[in-house]
Amino acid sequence: MARYRCINTGMCASAQSGLSVEAPTGSLPICSACGITMVPDGTSGRSRSARWGLPRMLLIGVAAILALWLCWSMIKWLSAPSAPTYSILGDWRAESTQLLGYQLPIGLNLRFGESSAYLLDQEVAISEYDYEGDRVTVVVKPAQLGAQLSLTFVFEDSNRMYFEGPVGLTLRYKRTNRQTAR
Ligand SMILES: [Zn+2]
Repeated sequence: MARYRCINTGMCASAQSGLSVEAPTGSLPICSACGITMVPDGTSGRSRSARWGLPRMLLIGVAAILALWLCWSMIKWLSAPSAPTYSILGDWRAESTQLLGYQLPIGLNLRFGESSAYLLDQEVAISEYDYEGDRVTVVVKPAQLGAQLSLTFVFEDSNRMYFEGPVGLTLRYKRTNRQTAR
């Protein structure tokens, strides 16, 4: 006697479940589920590992990619823990104009330089750019306007940001000189 199994894994439930049957050695019985000739089950161990081989390989691959990504993220995070991701320096244009009726302290076109900026078509001196995560607070020198003015912009990506205006209004800006984007 020997064990036989169906190899019709595409169609046959018996083959898919890995069942084997006992029959006289050398007889090659017919599968009762699908009717094709069965083969000796001497390779049942290998067939099981072959059946599980692909999912396992995929799992190992995904795990490896995740591990690599984690390492890469950690290295990136450790190597530049405080460097701002975005830069506000450059030219920006407001994307929406429906807020023009409101007296926002900024204009449709903005230009931010190292030490000065154009807001409402006039140049103002900048005390500092205070980056924190995906937002930057622009602190305008008091002497220019008579009062301390700080404006906070939130980056959506390196070329898009929005101004958090009063009473929940936002004004979205798009970078117009892409070459200065980091
Ligand atoms: Zn079968």
